[in-house]
Formats: sequence, C-alpha cells, structure tokens
Amino acid sequence: MYDCIIIGGGIAGLQAAIQLGRYEHQVLVVDSDYGRSTLCRAYHNLLGWPNGVSGDELRKLGREHAEKLGIEFVQDEVVRAEKQGELFTVQGKKEEATYQAKRLLLATGVLDRFPPLPGLVPCLGLSVYVCPDCDGYEVKNKRTVVLGAGNTGASMALTLISWTDDLVYINHDQKELKEEFRLKLDQNNITYIEQPIERVLTEKEWEFRGVQLTNGEEIRGDKGFIAFGGNEVKSQLAKQLGIERLENKHILTDPRSKMTSVKHVWAAGDVVAHSEQVTIAMGEGSQAAIWIHKSLINENK
Ligand SMILES: Cc1cc2nc3c(=O)[nH]c(=O)nc-3n(C[C@H](O)[C@H](O)[C@H](O)COP(=O)(O)OP(=O)(O)OC[C@H]3O[C@@H](n4cnc5c(N)ncnc54)[C@H](O)[C@@H]3O)c2cc1C
Repeated sequence: MYDCIIIGGGIAGLQAAIQLGRYEHQVLVVDSDYGRSTLCRAYHNLLGWPNGVSGDELRKLGREHAEKLGIEFVQDEVVRAEKQGELFTVQGKKEEATYQAKRLLLATGVLDRFPPLPGLVPCLGLSVYVCPDCDGYEVKNKRTVVLGAGNTGASMALTLISWTDDLVYINHDQKELKEEFRLKLDQNNITYIEQPIERVLTEKEWEFRGVQLTNGEEIRGDKGFIAFGGNEVKSQLAKQLGIERLENKHILTDPRSKMTSVKHVWAAGDVVAHSEQVTIAMGEGSQAAIWIHKSLINENK
C-alpha cells in the first residue's frame, strides 16, 4: 500500500515524485515511457539550460534524483483506476498488476498526433517543433515549412509570421481549408501546398532540410513545425474516476491545490488545462505534491 501513486513519470510526475520523496512518503511512479518528454530532443526555454537539454536527459536526472529519495518506479501502462472506499486501486497492463494507494496523481500528459513520416522523429525539438511559445524563436528569419493538416496547420503558419516571413504550409492530410485561411495565407505570402508528404529530408539525421512530397517534388527549408491537430489528451483514467474534464478533455483542477473534482485525486502537467510547457508541468507537479502531503499529514493528526 502506497501513500501516493503517480501515474505518468514525465516532467510533472517526476517533479512531484522528488517533492513527495523529500517528505518521505511511500510513492510509486507507474510510467509507460512514451510521452512528449520522451520525444523532445531539446528544450531551449528552461532556466539553467541555456544550451538546451533533451527530454531523455531531464527524465534520467529526475528519476535518479527521485530514486535516491526512495521513490519506486515501475514501467507499465495503467489501464484502470478506481476508488474503493477511501483507497485507490490502479491496474497495469503488464501481467494485470494492481497497486493500491491513499492518493493518486494523474500526470499522463498529451500526445501529439503526427503521421509516421520517415526522418521526422529524430528532428523533434532540434529542428522541427510543435509549440510556437516554446520554439517560435528558433525559426526567426529562417525558411520554415509547416507540416500539417487543414485549418490547424494554416493557423500555425499564420502564428509563425511573428518570427519569419519565409513560410511554406503543406496540408499533408489535404483536409479542407476555410476560405478565410486561404486568403490570410495569400495575404501573408505563405506558400500553400496541398499534397501528401513522403518523407522528411535531413542532414546528420536530426537537421531538417525540407520534405519530399509523394509526387517526388522536394520542398526545401531550414526548420519545420508540425500542426496536424487531433492531439490526444491522456485523461481516460480521469474519465473512469468520474473527474470533471473540459470539452477538449483536459482535466480541471483547483487553482491552488491542483486537486481534481474527485477528493484525493490530483492532476498536473499537460493533461491539465493550461499552457503545455515543461516549467509549468514542473511547477504543477510540485504544487500538487505539497497539497498531497498536506492531506496525508492532516489525516494522521
Ligand atoms: C517535439 C516537442 C517539443 C517540445 N518543446 C518544448 C520546449 O521547447 N519547451 C517546453 O517548455 N515544452 C516543450 N514541449 C512540451 C513538453 O514536452 C511538455 O509540456 C512536457 O513534457 C509535459 O510534461 P508532462 O509530465 O505533463 O507530460 P509528459 O512529459 O508527456 O509525460 C507523461 C508521461 O505519462 C506516461 N503515461 C501516459 N499515460 C499513462 C498511463 N496510462 N500509464 C502509465 N503512464 C502513462 C507517458 O509514458 C509519459 O512518460 C515539447 C513537446 C514536444 C513533443
């Protein structure tokens, strides 16, 4: 029996684990090892890392730090979570393992939707980006290709005009584009191509150099952005627990404590409704852990 189970050992989950470990609570982190922080090869907007740091490196450091504090880890995907009386039971996929705890923290994140284009994944975070707030700066005055779908991709291309006026938008899915977007792309001299992409062209494996379309044409660029829409907010477990979510499936939490609408279940990181960034995920992980601790010690008084 654990004081707390953290579902998701990405940025938010690890920061929460470190904080809870320093209170010496019994904590288990269950993590399926595939999330935004396993995909991003460089974060460039973090205090202390002026030359960038990869998601893998942050996760490795975070896990080592948490393990030194006695936090346990298991690699598994939680497929079921339920409240039984005052306790929570969590069921993993592997050999149907079950774990029990007094408190739960959901830190399961969001997964970006993108097609399996050869060459794309090694570029993520290094020369192809997902978030203009994080990496708009990286494409400043660079020829940038937006790989996307329909209105979502067009909207991304239009956002990027704050950083560069050399933009191409490729509507890979050939999804319908609103006339208003077509006009705006035109007004801002953004080249618009409606054609599926065959593969991403790279140098040194991770340096984006453009794309090859299925018709053989090559579209050259220095940087890429992806915006296909339909990202998966990983809040299925919250739904099982009857937790209040927004229409876009992000979890609602109390602004101060980060507790969800179900008592003794907290949520932190991208799965919660807010800007989806590392520093915010870390902050929320800590904040949730502080309030989990308060609730555990109050129970024992
Ligand atoms: C390409 C890319 C570039 C980015 N660049 C930046 C940047 O420059 N700056 C910035 O601030 N942010 C950036 N981000 C966003 C940043 O990675 C996220 O904000 C951050 O990872 C959120 O942390 P999290 O803990 O909420 O989610 P994640 O880091 O995604 O971790 C969630 C974890 O939960 C696990 N999980 C999910 N479901 C289950 C389950 N059912 N059972 C067990 N485990 C589960 C996953 O395996 C994963 O390890 C970028 C993201 C991407 C994809």
